Amino acid sequence: MKCRVCGRKAAVEVRRQGQAFCPEHYLEWFEHQVERAIRRHRMLRKSDRVLVAVSGGKDSIALWEVLRRLGYATTGLHLQLGIGGYSQRALEATRRYAGERGLPLIVVDLREAYRLSIPELAELTRRRTCSVCGLTKRYVINRVAVEEGFDAVATGHNLDDEASVLLGNVLHWQTDALVRQGPVLPAKEKLAKRVKPLYLLTEREILAYTLLRRLPYQHEECPFSVGAKSLLYKEALNRIEAQSPGTKQAFLEQYLKRIEPVLQAGLPAGEVALKACERCGYPTTGEVCAFCKTWDQAYRWARKKRILPGESVFAPEPALRFAPERPN
Ligand code: SF4
Ligand SMILES: [Zn+2]
Ligand SMILES: [Zn+2]
Repeated sequence: MKCRVCGRKAAVEVRRQGQAFCPEHYLEWFEHQVERAIRRHRMLRKSDRVLVAVSGGKDSIALWEVLRRLGYATTGLHLQLGIGGYSQRALEATRRYAGERGLPLIVVDLREAYRLSIPELAELTRRRTCSVCGLTKRYVINRVAVEEGFDAVATGHNLDDEASVLLGNVLHWQTDALVRQGPVLPAKEKLAKRVKPLYLLTEREILAYTLLRRLPYQHEECPFSVGAKSLLYKEALNRIEAQSPGTKQAFLEQYLKRIEPVLQAGLPAGEVALKACERCGYPTTGEVCAFCKTWDQAYRWARKKRILPGESVFAPEPALRFAPERPN
């Protein structure tokens, strides 16, 4: 195959669009796709301070690289989850990327900030690891963004992630989640704006980008991702995509264009009112937010099991400052 721009030998094929590119024009195409998505959905303004949630995997590292190249003022945020060697290696990859480019990086170690790791939190509350991990990440990322005055949080969700979440939500008719499935979630009182600039690029395309740009990233998957439902949905969508290229993109784009607005319009007037959590003051629909409830419960068991001293009380305010390792 030949590059559609210069006619030289192609290195990457984008099957869903029937196109192929040489390395140079692939990088150009990829960055242009991200720039277009940002413009089309008014995700970011050039003056914005952007907090990039960086796990150390290829998606978040590629996202940080593109935003940096597009000229945004970015700071990385990496959460140390305490998942053994996996978390250690994730931090090393993230630090290496940020260090080589002189970019500011905030690292929040959950054990230092809240005294328990994610596996401990899951065990003490007897809940699925990904469930307590997901809610903790969302909370802490938002808290850092609000407290440090960032204009938006950018995450590396890609087309495969978004299409598989959509499939899961459709299979279970999760209407609440369906109306929140867009590439931009606007800011509200104490809720930072959230954007997904890679939402129309596939895992394969992102991998090609990180390899061609020679970006350091963590190759291994989190040990708790094995057997996740989202992987099953991704596999199912990949099988359909192999027979019918473009299906994944059309599934997500057509949903966002044609179905989501109808669902939104059908919502009862006024969204579910958000109140301030009695414990931490951050938005919630109940009296106490899910983060405070979960961590409170974990602390109760940690005291009983003597993992934490008897007088330990959960405090939503973290025991550390959210300072970058290299200031802006
Ligand atoms: S796979 Fe689950 S436990 Fe691992 S980082 Fe993702 S949400 Fe957390
Ligand atoms: Zn070319
Ligand atoms: Zn709370």
